[in-house]
Amino acid sequence: MSKDEHKDEVQEEEIPETDEAPEEISQQEQQREYFKARYTEITDLPGVGSATAVSLAEAGYRTTPSLATATIRELTEKGIGEDTAKKVIAEARKAISLGFISAQDLIKIRSNRKLLTTGCANFDQLLNGGLETESITEFYGENGSGKTQICHQLCVTVQLPEEKGGLNGNALYLDTEGTFHPERILQMAETFGLEPGPTLENIVYAEAFTSEHQIALLEAADDMIQEHKIRLIIVDSAIAQFRSEYSGREFLATRQQKLNAHLNKLLRLCRAFNAAGVITNQVVDRPDSYGQNFPSPTGGHIVGHTVHTRVFIRKGRANLRIAKLTKSPSLPEGETPFRITETGILHEENL
Ligand code: ADP
Ligand code: MG
Repeated sequence: MSKDEHKDEVQEEEIPETDEAPEEISQQEQQREYFKARYTEITDLPGVGSATAVSLAEAGYRTTPSLATATIRELTEKGIGEDTAKKVIAEARKAISLGFISAQDLIKIRSNRKLLTTGCANFDQLLNGGLETESITEFYGENGSGKTQICHQLCVTVQLPEEKGGLNGNALYLDTEGTFHPERILQMAETFGLEPGPTLENIVYAEAFTSEHQIALLEAADDMIQEHKIRLIIVDSAIAQFRSEYSGREFLATRQQKLNAHLNKLLRLCRAFNAAGVITNQVVDRPDSYGQNFPSPTGGHIVGHTVHTRVFIRKGRANLRIAKLTKSPSLPEGETPFRITETGILHEENL
């Protein structure tokens, strides 16, 4: 370890002088290393022969990052022996350095977390710069509040270069309500100065018809996420299918268990691939302690615990909307207006 540290020092000293600041170079290097380490084939892992690789692929694990974030139980439930499960998960974790690390290394890893712009200045400000990668942001609100519009715009902004607030990556759109409109993407692409054809090409879309289908699509998504350089994973909407299929008290426990596993899978994919996770959620009226009704997101505590940031969208007059930050790990509550227009989600100056 100390030898490696010494090597780093020497390398840093040897960086030739250029117009770029040395600090910038080392950050870029770090990021390259980070992705290189994560993008190892599972068959490269010791102990993963072709038969195990096939079983793992059938279980939904085709890449080292997704395997590193798997649990032993998930693999054994899918018919993989416990010893093999333990071994391959441990090897995958070693390969991408998921284990005990120093706080100094943690800072480095955290610095790989990026912010994705909403494309709307005051909305970004509310979120302290944008949506965080390796984390799930939830937009909830009544029908027509603009959740799907926000998702569309994010599919475009994720493709922007980092200096423009994007992630220079692509989007995965899991649609459970059949409300994705590619024509809308074309309008928004123009707003952000992107070529229409490639912008559409860079969005991988799947419609889920049942909750089981929704679960299966995400479970099988890891190699596609890697191959298509996906940096934004959207599930619009995440809870609706579960609610309609498991209605009634007797199904509540099963529903919550499945929902929990699904959202956890989403979170782990976001962590594995340094992607931003987005879910949308409907609201139901719930009385507060004074007996007054107020709209509250569906899905109960399980959703509340898994998403890191919750944003409530409410309708104003005409195309005016108010976004309210109701949960954040590091920011105070706050709200901001925005408008939904032909060209997209607009910011304050245009109000
Ligand atoms: P939610 O997903 O929350 O149910 P949506 O994101 O579908 O709601 O938002 C619907 C709103 O977006 C409607 O008020 C609609 O008028 C507006 N909208 C959709 N497309 C356009 C457009 N091309 N130009 C302006 N407003 C639009
Ligand atoms: Mg919608």
